Amino acid sequence: MLSTSGRIGVIAALPEELQSLLDAMPDAEPVQRAGRTFWRGHLQGRDIVAVLSRIGKVAAATTTTVLLTEMACQQIIFTGVAGGLGADVRVGDVVVADALVQHDMDASPLFPRYELPGLGVSRLHPPADLTARVVGAVREALSPHALSVNGPLRDVHLATLGLSLPRVHQGLIASGDQFVSAAADCDTLRHHLPGVLAVEMEGAAVAQVCHDFGVPYVVLRTISDRADESAHVDFPRFVQAVACRYALAMVEALLQADRGS
Ligand code: SAH
Repeated sequence: MLSTSGRIGVIAALPEELQSLLDAMPDAEPVQRAGRTFWRGHLQGRDIVAVLSRIGKVAAATTTTVLLTEMACQQIIFTGVAGGLGADVRVGDVVVADALVQHDMDASPLFPRYELPGLGVSRLHPPADLTARVVGAVREALSPHALSVNGPLRDVHLATLGLSLPRVHQGLIASGDQFVSAAADCDTLRHHLPGVLAVEMEGAAVAQVCHDFGVPYVVLRTISDRADESAHVDFPRFVQAVACRYALAMVEALLQADRGS
């Protein structure tokens, strides 16, 4: 999985998600940096720094930079929610990024649209073997069996929330400083970025910072909405009942699989 030693930075997009991680890290101690609280402690026996990303690309980049420089993290896991864009990507599914793009990056005509000036590419990719192993671990963590046994997911009553069993997708995630909540905007993203599975506001910024520092990273997103006019429906309930639990289960699964490797 991730390497078997070294400190891991875990970035959560929402306060509720961070809290569910901290509930599982009783030894966590706060460290203040850059107006943020970084929580140093242990999860699954691993040395962890957990922190709230804050919303948007710059906030996520600052958070990641502090994790890599001042907190000496050697790998990054990002967990959050996102809008589903892929045709078969439903609310309650999970997307593991194998590529990330900043959908609002446009320095044309100086550079092709979406290209990251100075990097010469528009998409960044976490290591392929890492992504494949992460997808396997996440599928296991959210399997029908895992949802039925007496584990952390036992109280997730998917049917009462109108959700199906989670499917785990692997593919392109688009990030930008925009909460996408109109079907027309979704169509535009799908048109310009064929194959895009999800849209959110931080992942590609985390990817760019990790790329610059040569550090492996994982971006996990639970789909909270379809990025259309119904995007805000029951968001708080979904976050508490589903996204927080999935976030903890997925992060723990990555750390456990890690120890066994
Ligand atoms: N509006 C929410 C909070 C913001 S959601 C509320 O009612 O509390 C924004 C966060 O979720 C960001 O971290 C972003 O990455 C992600 N996200 C979820 N759905 C999104 C969408 N449709 N477009 C953009 N970002 C989305």
